[in-house]
Amino acid sequence: MGFANLSPSSAPPRQQTQRAAWQQELADAILDASQLCRELKLPTEYEEPARKAAKLFPLLVPRSYLQRMQSGNPHDPLLRQVLPLDAEFVSDQQFTLDPVGDSAALRAPGLLQKYAGRALLITTGACAIHCRYCFRRHYPYAAAPRKLEDWEPALQELRNDSTIHELLLSGGDPLTLTDARLGALIAALEDIPHLRRIRLHTRLPIVLPSRVTAEFLHLLRESRLTPIMVLHANHAQELTGDAAHAVRNLVRAGITTLNQAVLLRGINDQATSLTDLCERLIDLGVIPYYLHQLDRVAGAAHFEVPESAGRELMIELRRRLPGYAVPQYVREIAGEPHKTPISV
Ligand SMILES: *Cc1c(COP(=O)(O)O)cnc(C)c1O
Ligand code: SF4
Repeated sequence: MGFANLSPSSAPPRQQTQRAAWQQELADAILDASQLCRELKLPTEYEEPARKAAKLFPLLVPRSYLQRMQSGNPHDPLLRQVLPLDAEFVSDQQFTLDPVGDSAALRAPGLLQKYAGRALLITTGACAIHCRYCFRRHYPYAAAPRKLEDWEPALQELRNDSTIHELLLSGGDPLTLTDARLGALIAALEDIPHLRRIRLHTRLPIVLPSRVTAEFLHLLRESRLTPIMVLHANHAQELTGDAAHAVRNLVRAGITTLNQAVLLRGINDQATSLTDLCERLIDLGVIPYYLHQLDRVAGAAHFEVPESAGRELMIELRRRLPGYAVPQYVREIAGEPHKTPISV
């Protein structure tokens, strides 16, 4: 199932026209665990477990992201998000294949609705990076629609339901679609009169910043639908160099830009790293939206931070940051009518 089919060969089909620079960069991403370890000069004992665990969920790291890692540091917070570890083989009955009840929320192929007024379209199974903690690492993406015709049942469902005002484009990552495919989808959505907003949940401005082209910004700005971008950055070190530049360009284009982070052990579970992340976001003009408690997906138990520790971190964030820079600490409980706040 799922990600076995998701090597970059399942990335969106290339257009007939010349490949964009970001598509070339995606094609040049690192897929080999040994190569990743060697290029970062990691101690040799990391290689074999990385190769083994990459069979559970393939490794994928773009070079732009690699460049923001510190060489020789196996604990680098960016590396930790992508490095396959032995710990992924540890099974824990509380960590399951579908922790957030996605299968039960399916309204049409690729269309999920859990909450009032908004629905989520799985636009593609492809991502530009493979995050080891991903709650969709076991999602049966092979069944997800890939072409505009495949989205037709979802579009029909949306046309028939005038209570839906906002459509989330998710995946996978919707920004792995070409501008032509995204443009065709957005045009089809614009024809649905009750839709008012599109929200793109993406990690590409962070992990493959060259995706944020002038053409892409134009596509969003020209739409009748109000665009909202939700970035997924987990650490301030991700928001440097060309990624910072790409995020600034989104904000300067006038697009409302939010961020959601996942609370991850060994990556951002210190008050200083979370404070730095929120400050960095605010400095770039991005509002910290959610801090998510990890979804309990099989193979990711080693990333979990207990809620009690999460609450302590939130108290610290409130002490250190302006109110608008403090994200909401939430978790997703299958069947609940909204993300569930974790009260502090
Ligand atoms: C998380 C999620 C949303 C968005 O929830 P918000 O609280 O509006 O950010 C919408 N649909 C689905 C299926 C989701 O999982
Ligand atoms: S980019 Fe998002 S969907 Fe893709 S692997 Fe990472 S967390 Fe999962």
